[in-house]
Amino acid sequence: MRGFFRRWYGAWRRTRLGTRITLGLGALALVVFAAVGVTTVGIMHGYLDRRLDEQLSKSQNTQVPTLRETHGSPQSVYSWYSALYSVRDGVATPEPGGMLPGDGKQLAKIAADAVGGDVTRDIYLYDDGPYRVRACPVDTDSVLLSAAPQGDLNGTVRQLVWVEVGAFALALAVLVVVGRLVLRRGLRPLADMAGTAHDIAAHDLTANPDLPVRASGSGGGVEVEELRTAFNVMLAHIDTSLAARTEANERLRRFVADASHELRTPLTSIRGYADLFRYAAANEPAEREAHLSKIREETARMTVLVDDLLLLARLDARAAETPLRPERTDLAELAGDAADAFAAGRPDHPVTTSLDPALVDADPVRLRQVLDNLLANAAVHTPPGTAVHVAVAVEGAGAVARVTDAGPGIAPADQERIFDRFFRVDDSRTRSGGGTGLGLSVVQSLVTAHGGTVSVESAPGRTTFTVRLPLARS
Ligand code: ADP
Repeated sequence: MRGFFRRWYGAWRRTRLGTRITLGLGALALVVFAAVGVTTVGIMHGYLDRRLDEQLSKSQNTQVPTLRETHGSPQSVYSWYSALYSVRDGVATPEPGGMLPGDGKQLAKIAADAVGGDVTRDIYLYDDGPYRVRACPVDTDSVLLSAAPQGDLNGTVRQLVWVEVGAFALALAVLVVVGRLVLRRGLRPLADMAGTAHDIAAHDLTANPDLPVRASGSGGGVEVEELRTAFNVMLAHIDTSLAARTEANERLRRFVADASHELRTPLTSIRGYADLFRYAAANEPAEREAHLSKIREETARMTVLVDDLLLLARLDARAAETPLRPERTDLAELAGDAADAFAAGRPDHPVTTSLDPALVDADPVRLRQVLDNLLANAAVHTPPGTAVHVAVAVEGAGAVARVTDAGPGIAPADQERIFDRFFRVDDSRTRSGGGTGLGLSVVQSLVTAHGGTVSVESAPGRTTFTVRLPLARS
C-alpha cells in the first residue's frame, strides 16, 4: 500500500504544471457540480413532495363534506387509491367500494391513527413500490384515506439526476480539454524558457565561453515578462563575467609567456658570457673582466625586469597587498628632482622645467619612478640632442605632470598599444637599447593605483606624456 502511494506521489511530482492545474480544476469542478447536483435534486424532490401533499389534501378536502353526508364511495382522482375506513375501538376497516393497493394492513394502521387528525406518511408496498398516504377524519368514526404512488415522482427526480450527470460530465470534459489547451498556450513561454535553460546546460562553456542563447518571444503576462527579463539579464551578466574571465585568463597567459620569453634573453646572454669567461680564464686572462662586467650588466637588466614584473603583479592584486605608501607630496618637487637626476645622467638631452607646486597624496618613491620612466623614455627613444621639458601645474581638481620631448614621435597606430605590457614600437632596435617594454605599463599601473590617468599625444617633433592625479584634500 505504501509502495503504491509512493509511486503515485512520484508520478504526481513528475507531472507537468499544466496537467496539475487542469487536474486540480477538474477536481474542483467535480466537487462544485456534485454540490449543485445534490442541492437541485433535493430542492426538486421537496417541491414535488409538497405539490403531491397539496394535491392530496385538496382532493380530500373537497370530498370530505360529501362523504360526511353520504358515507358513499370516495372518488378516485388521477391514479390514486382512495377508500373510506370506519374506525371502531382503534381498528380501521375499509368500507366496501373503495380502492386499495396490495396488502391493506399498513393502510389500516394509518387510517386508525388519523381519527384524531390528518396523518401523512410515506410507505413502501411490497409489490407496488413507494406511496404517499394521507388520511383525514370524515367524522368521529370514519376516515378518508388516499394513497398516491410515488413512482412517477421518483422517475422525474431520477430523470433530473441523469440529465444533471450528463450535463456536468460534458461540462467537466469541456473544462478539462479546453483548460488544458488554454493552459498549454499560457505556459508555453515558460516551456520556452526551460528550453533555453536546457540549451545553456548543453552548451560547453569551457570550449566556447560565449553564451549566445537568450529567452526569446514576447507576451505571456506580466509575471512571465518579468521572469523573461530577469532571465535574460542574468544571462547577460553571466556572459559578461565569462567574457571578462576569459579575457583576464588570456591576458595572464600572454603575460606569463612574454615574461618567460623576456627572461630567457638575459639568461641566454649570461650563459654565453659565462662560457666566454671560462674560456678567457684559461686562454686570455685580459678579457676576463670584460666578460664579467657583461654578466653583471645582464644580471642588472634581469633584476629590473623581475622588479617590474613583481610590481605589476602586486598592483594587479590591488586591495590584497598594495605596494604603495601614500603621503602628502609636492609633485613639482619630485619632478624637479627627477629633472636634475636626468640632467646629470643624460647630458646629451637638454632638459628644461616649469614647475608650479601641486600637492598630492601619493607614494613619492613610486611617483618618482613614474617620472623617471617617462624621462628615460624621452632619452632612450629620441636621438641625442633632443630637448626635453618637464612641467607641473594644477588644472581644475587635478595635479598634472607633463613630460614633453622634441623627438620623432610615436605613430598613431602604436599610441594605443604603448601602454600594453612588453609592447615596443620597434622591437629589434629598442631591445639593443635595453628596453623591456614594461616601462609604460608600470607607469600606467602606478598612476591608476593612485586614482589618476596617463595619456599620450604625439606628432613628429613633439611627444607629450600627461599624468593627472587627484589633488591632496586639504
Ligand atoms: P621600453 O621603453 O622598455 O621599450 P615602454 O613601455 O617604456 O618600453 O615604451 C613602449 C614603447 O613606446 C617603446 O618601445 C617606444 O617605442 C615607445 N615610446 C615610449 N616613449 C616614447 C617617446 N618619448 N618617444 C618615442 N617613442 C616612445
